[in-house]
Amino acid sequence: MSSEAIRFDRVAMDFGKVQALDGVSLHIEQGQVVALLGHNGAGKTTSIKMILGILRPTSGTVRVFGNDPANDINMTELRKQMGYLPENLSFYPQLSGRETLQYFARLKDADKQQQDQLLEEVGLLHAADRRVKTYSKGMRQRLGLAQAMLNQPKLLVLDEPTVGLDPVATRELYNKIEQLKQQGATIILCSHVLSGIEEHIDRALILSAGKILAQGSIEELRKEAQLPMTIRVRGKIANKEWLEQLPAQGVSTQFVNGSQYILSAAASHKISLLHALGQEKNIEDIDINMPTLESIYTYYNTRNKAEGSDRQAVTHDE
Ligand code: ATP
Repeated sequence: MSSEAIRFDRVAMDFGKVQALDGVSLHIEQGQVVALLGHNGAGKTTSIKMILGILRPTSGTVRVFGNDPANDINMTELRKQMGYLPENLSFYPQLSGRETLQYFARLKDADKQQQDQLLEEVGLLHAADRRVKTYSKGMRQRLGLAQAMLNQPKLLVLDEPTVGLDPVATRELYNKIEQLKQQGATIILCSHVLSGIEEHIDRALILSAGKILAQGSIEELRKEAQLPMTIRVRGKIANKEWLEQLPAQGVSTQFVNGSQYILSAAASHKISLLHALGQEKNIEDIDINMPTLESIYTYYNTRNKAEGSDRQAVTHDE
């Protein structure tokens, strides 16, 4: 049996003259946490709607657990095991939190007993009988998460899940995501907030103007982008000879604040640099900064923009 949860093959989606997706091919394995990243209008929501079977592609194929999400009869049951938190979920203001969850549970044929447990997990049990119109933004977001987690989903799609959540609730959300992943769930996170997300994901997909710019694990993307890591060294490096020959090996060196060295190089130099620094006797501290998801994301978008203007220039010249 395939362990693939989602596959797009050359998927295109046109809304009149707007091409929301333009030949997108991607795959997501079961049990992975994947970030779907992209600027406004990149095509994230369109992709999600296709996964949920709400939209059919203009061309190309979409498969969810091997089925066509917009057509297959098998999807009726599968859909009950899919959780979705849209970016702007609205609730009936007069219903209480508990009634709201009961309403969603009926739509998904979910077990009644789960409801209080879910309310507790998202920290809303104390407010379960209060009307939703009295909830704060963060409380509404927690309620949205609770409804997405009904039926212990096999596939969970969360659009901007941390918006409105305080740091404690954000940490709890990632703990829950990790727990669902351990149970075999596949999780897609759509987000504009990149900081803090990378340690919780297995892979990232970067979309721009309906096209995939990059997909892979953070390690793979770092390798492909060849962005430098930096090592900040506090204290004295005695082996000046070693330091002086570093630039010839592709490691740039800087001495700042009268007491700190900054070494920048491709990540592949990390171990050999640390090994050499380990021989030094007068080093007080070392900080290693690997390229962040944010810098990787910026790299691919900037490269894409530059290639776009190159293409335009060529067309113009012709
Ligand atoms: P955001 O981060 O702003 O939510 P997104 O990446 O989710 O953006 P989409 O909502 O998928 O982007 O939109 C992709 C493109 O398709 C945009 O140009 C959008 O205007 C267009 N689009 C999406 N839905 C429709 C529609 N129903 N009719 C016309 N155009 C649409």
